Amino acid sequence: MSFPPIRPELAGIEPYGAPQLPVDLVPVQLNVNENPYGPSEECVADIAASAGEAARTLNRYPDREFVALRTALASYLSRDVPGEIVPEQVWAANGSNEVMLQLLQAFGGPGRTALSFAPTYSMYPEYARDSMTAWVAGRREDDFSLDLDRARALIAEVRPDVVLLPSPNNPTGTALPPEAITVLCEAVGDRGVVVVDEAYGEFRRSGVPSALELLPAHRNLVVTRTMSKAFAAAGLRLGYLAADPAICDAIRVVRLPYHLSAVTQATALAALRHAPELLGNVDQLRAQRDKTVAWLRDQGLQVADSDANFCLFGTVGDRHAVWQGLLDRGVLIRETGPDGWLRVSIGTPEEMAAFEDALVAVMKEMA
Ligand code: PMP
Repeated sequence: MSFPPIRPELAGIEPYGAPQLPVDLVPVQLNVNENPYGPSEECVADIAASAGEAARTLNRYPDREFVALRTALASYLSRDVPGEIVPEQVWAANGSNEVMLQLLQAFGGPGRTALSFAPTYSMYPEYARDSMTAWVAGRREDDFSLDLDRARALIAEVRPDVVLLPSPNNPTGTALPPEAITVLCEAVGDRGVVVVDEAYGEFRRSGVPSALELLPAHRNLVVTRTMSKAFAAAGLRLGYLAADPAICDAIRVVRLPYHLSAVTQATALAALRHAPELLGNVDQLRAQRDKTVAWLRDQGLQVADSDANFCLFGTVGDRHAVWQGLLDRGVLIRETGPDGWLRVSIGTPEEMAAFEDALVAVMKEMA
């Protein structure tokens, strides 16, 4: 008998996670799609003061319903839609990873199925496994778009309880047009929920609407967001969603009591007060992304059109060798996506220059 007596399907599995290497050893870290710009001193001081206030009440449990935070998130989201998003439509947890797991716990489970279209975010099968939900991955086309007729046919065949659609997609950067979301919501109907994961939503190119606009039309639609990416607050661990209030109420059944600590709630509220500053580099990052895409194409590489703060490029042959060559030159990117492709997050102009120099050197060495 082996020890520990873990569920057999978990035995021997490595925990998920990109390599986390010390910044003094690897100065250019472009592997987990973070925002490279930290908060100003003024913002840091406000967050520290708010966390300090929360510390005075740490003997008590926090507000289990996090009403103030739900209200602030609802008004933040309302700026992105013609109508209004109300606090009852908003839910939050420790990162959108936790939001997604809660969705699977509430709407998936034994005997139920989650569906996505590969290449897709690599955590989704893990949420399915952990909630004992069956996992089915359809596939995207060669340009990483979705063929709607094929997607509809797969939905009719699989009858999924949860459909997970990252838009913009990780790792390809591809955003879904609203027509696609409408078609998939209608195909699933009240039998299941369609989760549009907009972790990178704020980076989409102009003219690409948010799925938030479709919420009034589809009560089975859930749109998730995070403060980890455009909001420059990955360390905060705050993800959230907007959906029909009945969906939020269903999640309340599976959430752990007091899952958002008083410090998290206070910090998130303070960060939201500084939204204009924290989001202030989004336009610059989008411009840098477009420059990086153009530069990679100039090198003769294929690059998927990106609406996110990263891009997927290929094909580079032995991608592990390229990844390692970059790492040896102090640049950490991500080995993910289809074979032969690599993903690079968009950093500061200096970081992107270091990435470009290193990639040129590695490609020359391998030629
Ligand atoms: N969704 C997608 C598509 C992501 O890429 C990520 C982070 N890599 C997440 C969700 C989770 O982010 P977080 O838990 O930090 O909100």
